[in-house]
Amino acid sequence: AKAQGRNTYCFYEHQWEKQLKERQLIESNLRHALERKQLQLYYQPQFDTMTEKMIGVEVLIRWFHPELGMIPPNHFIPIAEETGLILPIGEWVLRTACRQAKEWQERGFDPVRVAINLSPRQFQQQNLVATVESALYTSGLEPQWLELEITESLAMKDAEFTIAMLKDLRAMGVSLMIDDFGTGYSSLSYLMRFPVEGLKIDNSFVRDSIESNSSALLLASVITLGRNLNMRVIAEGVETEKQLTFLRKHQCDQVQGYLLGRPMPAADLEKQLNKVSDD
Ligand code: C2E
Ligand code: CA
Ligand code: CA
Ligand code: CA
Repeated sequence: AKAQGRNTYCFYEHQWEKQLKERQLIESNLRHALERKQLQLYYQPQFDTMTEKMIGVEVLIRWFHPELGMIPPNHFIPIAEETGLILPIGEWVLRTACRQAKEWQERGFDPVRVAINLSPRQFQQQNLVATVESALYTSGLEPQWLELEITESLAMKDAEFTIAMLKDLRAMGVSLMIDDFGTGYSSLSYLMRFPVEGLKIDNSFVRDSIESNSSALLLASVITLGRNLNMRVIAEGVETEKQLTFLRKHQCDQVQGYLLGRPMPAADLEKQLNKVSDD
């Protein structure tokens, strides 16, 4: 038994070492990803549930490394947050997306709102509001076309500071949404205290909704909650017709998911944008 215990220990140590090496590899490479132009933005369409019109796109980062291949955001965003690299990366995302949205407008496409994911870490920056203002000003994009998705987190424990910032952003005309609604630990209190325009229901609620009656009830309740608070409600992770029908029936405002469109490079998304004169 003792020998086995020792083997197990070695196994775990080995795993742990492997994970540490992987992490270090990502971390050291991430430092150069921006300057080496390995980061790219993908855009996933968001639709009005009733009219089926594309009204927005969520901006999702992709990292293409020449040797490591495509590294998904879930593997490097947490490391970027811990190391602080999320600050330059986040600013690059913001500026690039604003420029892209403005470029589409200038080329005569029907305007769509670009929704950007903000890390809690970015909210601890004194100059976030100034950075957003600068990104809008430099790109020439009007604030109404920019949406910021924020997640609840412990990092927001300095709520007064965060709320003041969110108010400034809203006063600028930028729209704010709570992301992954229902998965944090104080969703409801955030919803009441943060000056947000709406909420995005987490993938998991949509996924489970067709599996059981209680999950379906939960999803319907969250939509109703949002509506009663006069909020815009987006459901993400819509993968099946059945889910879409359910969301339509319960009057969820917007939908997003593989069924309707995957995240894709700007050049591909463009093909789905309408020209203003088409209407
Ligand atoms: P998120 O903000 O919750 O984004 C939604 C995720 O669900 C995306 O994963 C998207 O590709 C995926 N998704 C969309 N439709 C479906 C569907 O129908 N089914 C399923 N199963 N998944 C779907 P992705 O692109 O891998 O991003 C993962 C997370 O990484 C994001 O979760 C977000 O938290 C973070 N992230 C991505 N880009 C950025 C960024 O530019 N800045 C920051 N701070 N975080 C980012
Ligand atoms: Ca998001
Ligand atoms: Ca989400
Ligand atoms: Ca998420």
